[in-house]
Amino acid sequence: MAEWKITYDSWKPEEQPLREALCTLGNGYFATRGAAEESNADDKVNYPGTYLAGGFNRLVSEVGGRDIENEDLVNWPNWLPLTFRHSGEERWFKLSEVELLYYRQELDMQQGLLTRQLHIRDSSRRETVITSRRFVSMANPHVAALEWEVTPQNWSGEIEIKSALDGTVINSGVARYRALASQHLEPLEAGKHNEETIFLVTQTTQSKIRMAQAARTRIFIEPPSTNFNRETRVLSQAYVEQLFHVSCTQQHPLRIEKVVMLYTSRDFAVSEIKLDACTNIGRQGSFAQLLHDHCRTWRHMWERCDLEVSSNHNAQSILRLHIFHLLQTVSGNTVDLDVGVPARGLHGEAYRGHIFWDELFIFPYLNLRLPELTRELLMYRYRRLPEARHAARKAGYKGAMFPWQSGSNGREESQVLHLNPDSGNWLPDNTFLQRHINAAIAYNVWQYYQATSDLEFLSFYGAEIIFDVAQFWATIASFNNDLGRYEILHVVGPDEYHTEYPNSNEPGLRNNAYTNVMAAWVIRCAIGIGNVLDKKQLEELYEKLHISADDRKRWQDISHKMLVPFIGHSKIIAQFEGYEALEEFNWETYQQKHGNSMRLDRILESEGDNVNKYKASKQADVIMLFYLFSSEELLKLLQSLGYEFSSGDIAENIAYYEHRTSHGSTLSKIVHSWVMARSDRKRSWSDFLEALMSDVEDVQGGTTQEGIHLGAMAGTVDLLQRGYIGLDIRDDVLWLSPALPVEVSFMKLQLRYRGHWLSVRVTHQKLMLSVDKGFTKEVQVGVNGEVFTLVTGDKKEFDIS
Ligand code: BGC
Repeated sequence: MAEWKITYDSWKPEEQPLREALCTLGNGYFATRGAAEESNADDKVNYPGTYLAGGFNRLVSEVGGRDIENEDLVNWPNWLPLTFRHSGEERWFKLSEVELLYYRQELDMQQGLLTRQLHIRDSSRRETVITSRRFVSMANPHVAALEWEVTPQNWSGEIEIKSALDGTVINSGVARYRALASQHLEPLEAGKHNEETIFLVTQTTQSKIRMAQAARTRIFIEPPSTNFNRETRVLSQAYVEQLFHVSCTQQHPLRIEKVVMLYTSRDFAVSEIKLDACTNIGRQGSFAQLLHDHCRTWRHMWERCDLEVSSNHNAQSILRLHIFHLLQTVSGNTVDLDVGVPARGLHGEAYRGHIFWDELFIFPYLNLRLPELTRELLMYRYRRLPEARHAARKAGYKGAMFPWQSGSNGREESQVLHLNPDSGNWLPDNTFLQRHINAAIAYNVWQYYQATSDLEFLSFYGAEIIFDVAQFWATIASFNNDLGRYEILHVVGPDEYHTEYPNSNEPGLRNNAYTNVMAAWVIRCAIGIGNVLDKKQLEELYEKLHISADDRKRWQDISHKMLVPFIGHSKIIAQFEGYEALEEFNWETYQQKHGNSMRLDRILESEGDNVNKYKASKQADVIMLFYLFSSEELLKLLQSLGYEFSSGDIAENIAYYEHRTSHGSTLSKIVHSWVMARSDRKRSWSDFLEALMSDVEDVQGGTTQEGIHLGAMAGTVDLLQRGYIGLDIRDDVLWLSPALPVEVSFMKLQLRYRGHWLSVRVTHQKLMLSVDKGFTKEVQVGVNGEVFTLVTGDKKEFDIS
């Protein structure tokens, strides 16, 4: 079924880097790009990267005369290498050196299987058909397997097969980082475990994470025989290969199975990783058996996580691709790994595998499918509270200040300098001032609690995060006596184009509206949690976190007096104080000159100009408020801060910023589509389609090959789920108010809400709900203004036309 497959019918070397990212296979523990088995990393076409969840390492590089330390998600040894050559010949098979008579590559998302079919003709006019299949096991996170079937079409003769483990790899997947240090691995040991199995052990240079890989290669020929020659060669401590000399007969397929096991020093339940890899590989079944288990696990996951949609656009297969990559990055196998969600998946080296605020766009989908996973991902933040507390103290604040970019231990991992590839200049990077990440983390905790009512998590971990973040906001906020309001200075909002005022040497802005409103929300949330937690526990928490009665008085005060800047006397919320003084940007002239305007910052800098001067945003900033809060909630929040704001003003704000946003982040279209979902469904749907296509069409011109954009991927799914179905959890009620765009005629999905599995089907006329399974008593569901109590087995149909 096309809806479950992504297919490429021809070989296009220039598209290969993108295809590699989109055909990455992973299981939430590790992932490997969709590179061909016979390829090596080169500059332009192939980059067979393998990434481990939480597999970070730090290296120092010299940039512009300064020593700068960066933490990277490491590219681990390549377990893929498999190739062949005709005996007596020097060159191994390479796609670029043969004539291609047929090519087809297919990613089957239902089964998590990547298949490639080739019909090649070499310079001696020998024709060969090769079919390769591979998967990274969802059933056993330590297992990956690949299979080649080689059928000589018009020849018989001896070939040599090579199967290897290659630890000579470096991190070179992102061109702009290539001037930086990239040798993250040091080899420890390579060798032969037994006739069938080779192994390789490597270690990261600084974080000392060890990885052992064991590869078992078996060959099956027709008629069956084991009469072939096998040789293991250890070329260095970083590279081991097995060579097989096999006789092939015309039209008789030869099958090669390579099963790989991968263990690391971060694993539980191991004695010594090489020992475990080598012992366990002997216990693995055949390729077919392993594939069977893998497909079963995917089937179970799809049963929970699929979203069916009938639309006049081929949205279905791409939505599945998005769900597929999300689950390959974080799945049940991620539980216990102590990791967050890297913004670019485990699919490439962009942003060095760091974790940003993108979880804000990702968790809503997971909360309503795999809440036990979100809980774990939130624990990644909880465990990094000590580092965040240290960062807050160092900056002169109380509570916890989480980093904009997070990696291994929660230290700030944002780069100090970044390269503008358009100008070749290294520039100071002040985007780390995006303190709003703290609000996103607190918001995520609260949303998880709303979806699950997991009071235990909230009591023991979540409240601590929210309280500490509230304390941070309460102390970074300063009282302005003249205005009689609290303000937050020296920050950067979500729009990364504005990091300082024009002609200022000081980084940061005053009163970014999004940051201020979110800070007020977190503080209100912290006050509200006081009514949810057990009294004794609450007192203990206040004591543990040194939150005094005076601190709480300040919380109350801020919750009524936080400043929100407006443009003049209008109802347009100013992105930050002083925004109105910026110059209008001439979008038309600029677009005529440069076409695509997504990375305005880079182009302007390369022309000697500065994007900070203009009313031009990279992405949704003020508009984020309408994305995160329902209009009722936002109006209440603004009212409690003493601002008159009506739902009509929202549309005006959206229109104002719509014209001033370049959508230089793939997150931006999601937000804009979302906020139009009710007011302008046509526009919303077209923005949705743009967001949907951003990775498959690589709309940012070459960024997807460096790693997918998980926030945008999960965000599109969530847009259908929450945006168009109008799903909102308020006052312990799950509200549904569907408003499908005309282009969508039907949607079906499963939701896990507070211990129940709800099946939801929507058309333009009807909303059908059934409570299929559940392990708690009942849930409250609200439709058309009425609240219903549902228990397992209940079915309800509502007229919504
Ligand atoms: C965006 C950020 C985002 C980051 C990682 C940047 O381009 O501006 O909002 O968190 O990418 O996806």
